[in-house]
Amino acid sequence: MRPLDDLLAISSRDHSHLCPRQILGVRMGLAGLSALDFDAPPEKKRLLIIAETDGCFVDGLSAATSCTVGRRTLRVEDYGKVAATFVDTQTGRAFRVAPALDVRQRAYAYAPAEPRHYFAQMEAYQVMPDDEMFTVAEVTLTTSIEAILSRPGLRVHCNVCGEEIMNEREIKQNGLTLCKTCAHGGYYQIVERDSISLFLQQEAAL
Ligand SMILES: [Zn+2]
Ligand SMILES: [Zn+2]
Repeated sequence: MRPLDDLLAISSRDHSHLCPRQILGVRMGLAGLSALDFDAPPEKKRLLIIAETDGCFVDGLSAATSCTVGRRTLRVEDYGKVAATFVDTQTGRAFRVAPALDVRQRAYAYAPAEPRHYFAQMEAYQVMPDDEMFTVAEVTLTTSIEAILSRPGLRVHCNVCGEEIMNEREIKQNGLTLCKTCAHGGYYQIVERDSISLFLQQEAAL
């Protein structure tokens, strides 16, 4: 395993800052690796991380584990929580790591000379022992690893919008192949042209 300082340098390189959440991410990445008995990030996409929020924390996870969204070894399921599940895709074992509920209070004991909370956390998160920082629970996934990862090269077209769907994310409904957006509604709605031009007219009138 590379020393913590190296990993923090990697994490903050693309950030222009180091912050408590990156340190938490790096430490959690290392804790996840050791929960799965890895001495170093395993090869061949063996490790899959499901992070429960985005932001600085995730860059810390990536620095410690080399898992990234681009490599399809890290997924963000946004629950708004600084927590992550580490999955050994070869054995199927998985551990969810989360900060101890009182991690902030505990941190101050490790940086007694630092009155500023932010900097006390920065200092403490680098030296606190894992078992004071985190809770680790063995878990099973509710979606199979095979379904999460799918297989390369699989693609179909949505019968409604015509767009290509990869990784078996299509939905079969009444004999149709649909994308999630066409089947259930998506995270966006198309802005009607009429309302755009109305908006522009109103803007122009102001
Ligand atoms: Zn940050
Ligand atoms: Zn569609």
